[in-house]
Amino acid sequence: MKALLFLAILLVPIICVESAPNAHAASGASIPTEGGTWANPTITIVINPQPNQPWFKASYAGDVSRAISRWAESIIAYTDASGSDSIRKLSFLTYVAGNQSVPPNPDVQVDFTQSFGSTQGLGLTDVRISTSGTLGIFQAPTTTTLAAYDPTNTTQLTDIDMINIASHEFGHALGLGHATVSGTDDGTFELMFLSYGQAVGNPRNTLEAPSTLDLYALSYIYDWLATSSTLNSSGHPRTDLSLPSGATYSSEYPYPEQIQMLQTSVSQMRLEILIVAVVAGLLLALVLVFGTLLSRRKPAPPAPYSWAPVPTTPA
Ligand SMILES: [Zn+2]
Repeated sequence: MKALLFLAILLVPIICVESAPNAHAASGASIPTEGGTWANPTITIVINPQPNQPWFKASYAGDVSRAISRWAESIIAYTDASGSDSIRKLSFLTYVAGNQSVPPNPDVQVDFTQSFGSTQGLGLTDVRISTSGTLGIFQAPTTTTLAAYDPTNTTQLTDIDMINIASHEFGHALGLGHATVSGTDDGTFELMFLSYGQAVGNPRNTLEAPSTLDLYALSYIYDWLATSSTLNSSGHPRTDLSLPSGATYSSEYPYPEQIQMLQTSVSQMRLEILIVAVVAGLLLALVLVFGTLLSRRKPAPPAPYSWAPVPTTPA
């Protein structure tokens, strides 16, 4: 009983320490919009690979395509959970120049460069917002440039890095600014934070996904989709948005990735259970061995009778 009380006292401060920073992050996180919206829910993207450049990795074009399709999948996961499904009407048509015929005037052009050098980051997105007449409408083309190497021009981006940077830049192309915090409450990276939270080129880097905050802001930018399939009013001006109280601040991974993460944590849990079982088994065996040894050491009970003198047989 005393031991149980001690354990309870020990556990309380640990739980408090764990939850305190999370609560702080949720109340402080916000994201500004860029003050513009696309006027049509179908957004066309053309990716321009640089296959003849020595610094270009052939897989980068596919990485950018994957970044864009992951956005669509995150939107599905988010709208399933939140109930506001108007942004599900957004559709992204991605083309890779050189592989197929591309539309002449896409909404977004994606280009690559070797490195931005020390003054710039890893990606750059230039959006043009119409300010005369109808306020806050994006004008094609939005141009995104992605670097193949880090700003010191020494480390090449892995495919995971490229997907993450392209995902961040596509968030800008959709109308999102930079989120104010680097991590979400579930301990994952905030995709729309100003700087990349992982070391470029590290093979252990993980995929990042838009957060519920990013997708909440996206729903605000495209709220006109709830009533119309084309924009017939002006977009919202630049607005700072925070999640409504009670909403979970987490990364919204596509379903297949959520399943994979769940499977990984289940197998990790199985391993932990196995370790606990083995340790418990060993302890039990030790207890049994000691128990047996102690019971053997007990003094033998006194003989019930005295030995009679050994009879001797006459020779
Ligand atoms: Zn950015």
